[in-house]
Amino acid sequence: MSSGNRLSGHMHTMSENDIKPSNFIHQIIEDDLKNGVHNKVVTSFPPEPNGYLHIGHAKSICLNFGTAERFGGVCNLRFDDTNPEKESQEYIDSILSDVSWLGFKWDGDIRYTSDYFDELYAYAVHLIKAGKAYICDLSPEQARDYRGDFVTPGRNSPFRDRSVEENLELFEKMKNGAFEPGACALRAKIDMTAPNMNLRDPMLYRILNMSHHQTGDKWCIYPIYDFAHGQSDALEGVTHSICTLEFEDHRPLYDWFIENLPVPVTPRQYEFGRLNINYTVTSKRKLKQLVDEGVVNSWDDPRMPTISGLRRRGYTPASIRNFCDSIGVTRSNGTVDMGMLEAAVREDLDKNAPRAMCVTRPLKVTITNYPESEEEWFDLPKHPKDDSMGMRTVPFTRNLLIEQEDFAEIPPRKWKRLTQGVAVRLRGSYVITCEEVIKDDAGNVVELKCTYDEATKGANPEGYKPKGVIHWVSADNSVPCEVRLYDRLFTEENPDGDKERSFLELVNPDSLVVLTEARAEVGLKGSVAETRFQFERTGYFSVDKTSSDEKLVFNRTVGLRDSWVKVQQG
Ligand code: ATP
Ligand code: MG
Repeated sequence: MSSGNRLSGHMHTMSENDIKPSNFIHQIIEDDLKNGVHNKVVTSFPPEPNGYLHIGHAKSICLNFGTAERFGGVCNLRFDDTNPEKESQEYIDSILSDVSWLGFKWDGDIRYTSDYFDELYAYAVHLIKAGKAYICDLSPEQARDYRGDFVTPGRNSPFRDRSVEENLELFEKMKNGAFEPGACALRAKIDMTAPNMNLRDPMLYRILNMSHHQTGDKWCIYPIYDFAHGQSDALEGVTHSICTLEFEDHRPLYDWFIENLPVPVTPRQYEFGRLNINYTVTSKRKLKQLVDEGVVNSWDDPRMPTISGLRRRGYTPASIRNFCDSIGVTRSNGTVDMGMLEAAVREDLDKNAPRAMCVTRPLKVTITNYPESEEEWFDLPKHPKDDSMGMRTVPFTRNLLIEQEDFAEIPPRKWKRLTQGVAVRLRGSYVITCEEVIKDDAGNVVELKCTYDEATKGANPEGYKPKGVIHWVSADNSVPCEVRLYDRLFTEENPDGDKERSFLELVNPDSLVVLTEARAEVGLKGSVAETRFQFERTGYFSVDKTSSDEKLVFNRTVGLRDSWVKVQQG
């Protein structure tokens, strides 16, 4: 072999590395493209609009949109709206807003399974004409009994051998509202003894006298998810229909419909493992219960693992996308530590959130040797490692506030904060020394009388050493704010896992702590919703949507470091 060949062989390997599949679905698609099975990739995110999206959906969104992007294809957004009784426009709007916020763009118009109700009806008629579907009059209870179970084979419905003509006539009548809900249903004629229960003559259409958020009162029969899903994929030209593992057993049915119907293309279904996160729940049904029972305030309560909750909490779209990339895509369900999600936002905000000072539980400090009328402005960097963010300016006055927890009357060993007779630096300004502790009648420390050292502006003190650096704000010139501290929503790692107790009984009573006396540096006045800061020494915070000029409201996104591990281990 010549050296030229070796070189090109080497280069080939390199370019292969560049597009190396990062998960098994990418591998499948790469093979399909290589083997000419497809020449363009079309994926789809198909949410049912029966609740708000949660972090599990974010994984599916990142996978579907990310995969399309990776292969130069497109991803559709289709509302799987076959259950009008549980769906609503509010959910549709929230889903659209969440997907956009995450930074993804669906191909073409917003799609609805209900856009295809006419086509789906025609497909049902096609199956009837082919002798592969029939109207069954068994009651739901009878049908369940006939279906058998995992150990008992099913029995054929007595209505299974109706003639094509009779079935066509009955189906038409069903569509025209001649029957009551539950009186009959359209079923596929497959195999009542199939080991896979999904193939035991599954229901295709049911009667539901209910108007639909998209189609109004046009229909009183609605297709079942299984019948609608694959055919909608086919009608949209979806090539790779990616869903979660619980649909694995439905795949033979998905394929049966595609094989037995005159669909324009042949989509294939692939399943991946659901995302679960500890100390929370990821099921729309359970999240809805938390909202309906008032355990949380709303779907976008910052304690909720919904995308809108995370957003309100202060998560950035990039942090959620990075998290989804970091957990990978596999063929098994797994539970991810909440700490990983928090680490993702911490990493983003550490880099991108400007710094500010906020005293969350204030203690009054009077600088007795500082003139009453004076106000001095100190310039501090907005970010210690990113000069491009520029500077901020904070006023120093005679009356200051520090954190209650930065003072101890009887300090523990190695105390690096304030105590009587000790000096500390107030971040970015002077060194002060605590001279006197004032208490109320109950013995609570209510004020510290301190002195400042004028020579310590930008310089170390002469002859003594401050114990540490603490944050502060001016009591005379700062903004009042409310600070909301969040903790895990559940006390148990797996709130679903307790057979004895409902997850609703495992809610953490301290998941929300509201501090109403906080004060932030005055430059934060007028900050708009979703502005994020690192409050120095305290954590990352985001301005809440209920914030106003009168009262700033901050949500704590996450602490500065993962303190949970330590707390848990004692
Ligand atoms: P839930 O169980 O929370 O109600 P769902 O699966 O019923 O979720 P859909 O609206 O049908 O919700 O989901 C839309 C897409 O998101 C589906 O393809 C589904 O597989 C995927 N998805 C839902 N939950 C998760 C999860 N926890 N992890 C990964 N993907 C998920
Ligand atoms: Mg679903």
